[in-house]
Amino acid sequence: LMEYAAKDPELWKSIKKEEDRQQHTIELIASENIVSDAVREAQGSVLTNKYAEGYPGKRYYGGCQYIDEVEQRAIDYAKELFDAKFANVQPHSGSQANMAVYQALLKPGDKILGMGMDAGGHLTHGSKVNFSGKNYQSFSYGLNPETEELDYDQIMADAKEIQPQIIVAGASAYSRIIDWDKFREIADAVEAYLMVDMAHIAGLVATGDHPNPVPVADVVTTTTHKTLRGPRGGMILTNNSEIAKKINSALFPGTQGGPLEQVIAAKAQAFYEDLQPQFKIWTDQVIKNAKAMAAEFNKSETIRVVSGGTDNHLMILDITKTGLTGKDAQNLLDSVNITTNKESIPNDQRSPFITSGLRIGSPAITSRGFKEDDARTVADLIIKALTNADNELAIKEVAEDVRALTDKYPIH
Ligand code: PLP
Repeated sequence: LMEYAAKDPELWKSIKKEEDRQQHTIELIASENIVSDAVREAQGSVLTNKYAEGYPGKRYYGGCQYIDEVEQRAIDYAKELFDAKFANVQPHSGSQANMAVYQALLKPGDKILGMGMDAGGHLTHGSKVNFSGKNYQSFSYGLNPETEELDYDQIMADAKEIQPQIIVAGASAYSRIIDWDKFREIADAVEAYLMVDMAHIAGLVATGDHPNPVPVADVVTTTTHKTLRGPRGGMILTNNSEIAKKINSALFPGTQGGPLEQVIAAKAQAFYEDLQPQFKIWTDQVIKNAKAMAAEFNKSETIRVVSGGTDNHLMILDITKTGLTGKDAQNLLDSVNITTNKESIPNDQRSPFITSGLRIGSPAITSRGFKEDDARTVADLIIKALTNADNELAIKEVAEDVRALTDKYPIH
């Protein structure tokens, strides 16, 4: 084996550079996080060598006895975390989880009603460039233009008009608590399935910082790498045994082959961490940090927080008054090592490639140890950069302050 084991020096240089980038960057992408060493270790384990098509106790290959223990552990922890009767931990990603649910519950051409991407929904909630908008007839609901929050009466009216087979609740860029019971009422009124995609907020759901959709929805999907602080991957939960059966076969053999058992081991490790009391301290701090940043932005004359604030780990900033586009702002902040992503604001006059907003999230900085004071400093640095785009000295000062703050909190 050794003769094949030489490391590719160029590859490892790139990996080292990425490690340094993470150390010296203030990471505000709301869907990102920093996992524990144990999660990374599980993912780099010998489980990567093993094929295990099927499910624990029902595999198509021999030698799965220990793999079965690992996957069963992930399943049991997932059920405990979310008080769910069934969990499928095999989806390679959040998108694969959503694909399997549609495959299980819909026929091609059926109608999906999901949150529009311009309002904060995900590609897989029916976007026309995604399989969910190509293989199914997709329709979208938006936000109330006054409150910039979900408008349940309007969604009810949309659902009655469209008569979808499935309603998708959940978002990639929405800063308020989502009322699952209201969505249940809407789904029941049109006899549609209710799917909740809790990818962004799953960690907050696990600790009770956001209501749990599992008792209310027909099926719940999530990613495992966002606020759950696990490896990149997906998961599907339900309390309905009939739906569980359909989902298991829609995932394998329906849409995936062999599961990534090394990732499933990392999911089990992450869920184990999520079940510890310290994880609740972390999610509380995530929300405190997000609220501290929102309050600081609200004090500024030029940057507006969409809907006025946040209840969770993220917020959308309306930066129209700075004169910068979302794209320009993202690039400017990149130049000072603050990582964000451009984001459409409600009723954005610019295209999704340009936008008038930014999405800011607190999970990764919280995992590094940032507290409210640091979060306020981060907001102040963003305000300073975005209101001094042409002032070289000010931009240089921001970059120096970013360096000092990231030096204060080593990742490893
Ligand atoms: N669902 C939501 C709400 C998301 O925000 C995302 C990721 O951005 C996904 C699904 C898709 O997850 P993945 O990137 O793992 O396919």
